[in-house]
Amino acid sequence: MKQYLFTPGPTPVPPEVLAAVGAPVIHHRSPDFRPVYERVLTRLGEVCRTESDVLLFGASGTGAFESAVANLVSPGEPHLVVSAGNFGERWVSMVTAYGADVDVLRYPWGETPDSDDLRARLAEREARAVWLVQSETSTGVVADVRALAAPVKEAGALVIVDAVSSLGAVPCETDAWGLDVVVAGSQKALMCPPGLGLAAVSEAAFAATGTSPRFYFDWERTRNAQRKLDAPFTPPVSLVAGLDVALELLLREGLEAAFERHVRLGRAARAGVKALGLELFSPDEDRSAVVTAVRAPSGVDATDVVRALRDRFGITIANGQGDLKGKIFRLGHIGWFDVFDITTQIAAVELVLAERGAEVERGLAVTAALEAFSAEPSRA
Ligand code: PLP
Repeated sequence: MKQYLFTPGPTPVPPEVLAAVGAPVIHHRSPDFRPVYERVLTRLGEVCRTESDVLLFGASGTGAFESAVANLVSPGEPHLVVSAGNFGERWVSMVTAYGADVDVLRYPWGETPDSDDLRARLAEREARAVWLVQSETSTGVVADVRALAAPVKEAGALVIVDAVSSLGAVPCETDAWGLDVVVAGSQKALMCPPGLGLAAVSEAAFAATGTSPRFYFDWERTRNAQRKLDAPFTPPVSLVAGLDVALELLLREGLEAAFERHVRLGRAARAGVKALGLELFSPDEDRSAVVTAVRAPSGVDATDVVRALRDRFGITIANGQGDLKGKIFRLGHIGWFDVFDITTQIAAVELVLAERGAEVERGLAVTAALEAFSAEPSRA
């Protein structure tokens, strides 16, 4: 059976990238690897829109995030985490595990964090750093990181952003928005297999490193080595070779064009879902361009929908996470996606729901998705 990977990570990998990953392994301290490494580090700077160093780790996104925690958190110091979903909660646990005195600005899952709330919280209690999630993949909400960063800068704290599922899909202006650390992983909008984590780190963040023990994830060690194009440890060379090609594809498309494509993919997914008569869980707005979360119709278990799509059609979509498991399903659209990846998902969901006796409109959703994809852009 043909397999379709439609989750918000891992995501489909273009054949050119797979070919690079499958090429013979080269030695990481050989002249063959250095130009690849140099290009990847330069291209990551372009994608993160930063002049600062982008540190690359053999790790998933969580590992790169832990590098930020290990370098910036010292036991007993005040930190603020903004949480509105599964990943926000993960960072609360991690920052707590490193012994910080953690405050949480917590929203119900599915809500969008607000910069006025953040300003008010920072006026009540100081924080050395504020930990934000740009795209909360568990809910489909993409926060306005630019607006959220402003009160943090006013308060003189560092801004750390989980852009694991958003980097390359929606704008993330590291330098222009004053983001001190931006973390991402290879397996989302960067169109690579899982296994590489990255952290763009500002000079202010380097200057603020703390006392927690660290070795593999020590920023200084990786920065010094990267600047000599001599990785501190054996990097996953095949993944780095794949990322080189993937970043070339992304930059050749152009970041602005890629952002616009993601806006249209999000519109197509939402239009299709609404035409089916289903209720969106994620916001009905252009910024929500990473994953479309949909409430399962009453009487239908989302887990059953996810399983049926996989077993009947080889289509993998994502279930809800945490308390939302079984209640929502999530249609991914980051990275190497086009509109037919959306219509395939929508058509298959329509079939599976109809078979389960759910009240869905038949025959309208694919057209609605196609029309929404090609409608005139309305972005500012
Ligand atoms: N943060 C967000 C927003 C994510 O979507 C994910 C992965 O799904 C992670 C963090 C964790 O990344 P990883 O699974 O690569 O460790």
